[in-house]
Amino acid sequence: MTHPERTTTDTRERLSGVREQLDDAVQDLIGVRHGTITVDTPSGGTTIRAVYRDSVYTEMLSELPGFQGTAMGSVAASMPPLWIDGLAWLNDVHATVDRWVRTYQLRADLTVTEQLDALTALTWRPQDVPLVHDIADTIRHWVRQAVSLIDGEEHRKMELVAACPSCGTKVVFRRDSGGDVVRQAALSLTIRGCVCLACKAQWGPPLFEHLAAVLGCEQVPGVA
Ligand SMILES: [Zn+2]
Repeated sequence: MTHPERTTTDTRERLSGVREQLDDAVQDLIGVRHGTITVDTPSGGTTIRAVYRDSVYTEMLSELPGFQGTAMGSVAASMPPLWIDGLAWLNDVHATVDRWVRTYQLRADLTVTEQLDALTALTWRPQDVPLVHDIADTIRHWVRQAVSLIDGEEHRKMELVAACPSCGTKVVFRRDSGGDVVRQAALSLTIRGCVCLACKAQWGPPLFEHLAAVLGCEQVPGVA
């Protein structure tokens, strides 16, 4: 109490510091990311191209069976442990954001992304510094968890260079998030199973041996 002016300045600086932390954390969770993909060139080689990637949050949503944008939506019954973690992550995020919406009287009819954005736009008071710090910490923790889940999934995703036994398609072309057309093998193998991106035929892990036999493989790569 001996230097009230000094204390006020410190508090203001601390508040702007934690606000910045909150902005950065929210941006890391819901902001568009920069990434690279490998694409085939007309001359038969490959080239690395810079693309925009969906936000961490959007990617988590789209990777989960039963949520938008997944090609594997119908195999949710045999969901592997990894995606039980993913679902727990999503439930945690949604429940916590719901709580923040009630506590800080944000609009309940907004999407989670919009609510998180609204959180950064709130007028915080100097006494809110520990609170804002905790919120930023929580969001940073979510980002770390999600990135490790997404990376784990990507390492398990493989392309099978073979014609689909069901429709005969070998290669599909799709538009990436940057709008470019990229080619990839029609058969995409993940820990959840194999799916043909052309005809959507699916083979769950129990059918891998059968699939391998049809494809003439001695062993499907990456599957024990
Ligand atoms: Zn097919």
